[in-house]
Amino acid sequence: RRGADSPPAFRPATADALAAWYETHPDATLIAGATDIGLWVTKGLQDLGQVAFLSGCADLTRIEVTETEIRLGAGVTIARLREMMRARHPHFARMLTRFGSAQVRAAATLGGNIANGSPIGDSPPALIALGATLHLRQGARRRSLPLEDFFLDYRKQDRAPGEFVEAVTIPRQPDNLRCYKLSKRRDQDISAVLGCFNLTVRAGRVETARIAFGGMAGIPKRARAVEAALTGQPFAQATIEAALPAFASDFQPMSDMRASAGYRLRAAENMLWRLWHESRNDPTDIDELAP
Ligand SMILES: Cc1cc2nc3c(=O)[nH]c(=O)nc-3n(C[C@H](O)[C@H](O)[C@H](O)COP(=O)(O)OP(=O)(O)OC[C@H]3O[C@@H](n4cnc5c(N)ncnc54)[C@H](O)[C@@H]3O)c2cc1C
Repeated sequence: RRGADSPPAFRPATADALAAWYETHPDATLIAGATDIGLWVTKGLQDLGQVAFLSGCADLTRIEVTETEIRLGAGVTIARLREMMRARHPHFARMLTRFGSAQVRAAATLGGNIANGSPIGDSPPALIALGATLHLRQGARRRSLPLEDFFLDYRKQDRAPGEFVEAVTIPRQPDNLRCYKLSKRRDQDISAVLGCFNLTVRAGRVETARIAFGGMAGIPKRARAVEAALTGQPFAQATIEAALPAFASDFQPMSDMRASAGYRLRAAENMLWRLWHESRNDPTDIDELAP
């Protein structure tokens, strides 16, 4: 809903036009796919006031692949992200099949999923585990930061008035990413816990570990104590067991209608177990385990 006296919507055709306008209208609401904002209106009955529609900014929808990185414009939809991840990080793509529905994925953008700062957005933990960099723009000024540093506190992000998400880059790397989404319903449900693991194992040892979770804190957050407990250790059952207590120092999750704190913590630990079992080709899929 927009009030009768709301100014006309701004419809930039380029990121340059958006940057110039938003710098002088920092209180405006940017609307990308509107899959979050739609609810502010239909459920919250909010008057959005001055708005800009980003869907006409063709340069924000670009995907560029170089020898070293993948650059995803903020306007890339979750459907396109999923397509592009299929060949590169198939577990990420598979997890995204459980992002909303086909209709939601077709409209929802990567930029919206990051900028809304939700602790249970599905793309940030996977991107953080992949070592993604976020690119922000305010007028002609650009800055970049590790994606995990963007999320400061519950619904508080490192974004200045008039600054917007322009792109995300992911370093190209061999695929080791594993993503596990836990929700009450299989489809069309928000994550209770989402765990993303990016481990490099060489000569039987964990050489590097980047692990990030959604639903375990007020922000999408790295499991740094778990990472430290794994790094440099033999990739073995004893190491997994020894790493489990580190989850409680990384995370003090909350209880809500999706899951209790204790359940979340146990589920996160079990995701590490699952990773271990999958690495040994043990059946872990519920369909495979059925009699
Ligand atoms: C039925 C349904 C199911 C859903 N399921 C899931 C799910 O499974 N997983 C999940 O993670 N989410 C889910 N969502 C939430 C939503 O779809 C995502 O968060 C989506 O990525 C938001 O993107 P959008 O383009 O629609 O953002 P919008 O609604 O347009 O905007 C969201 C916020 O981001 C800001 N914004 C958008 N683009 C930019 C930018 N470039 N720079 C700065 N700020 C920007 C907006 O101003 C607003 O504050 C679901 C939503 C619905 C309605």
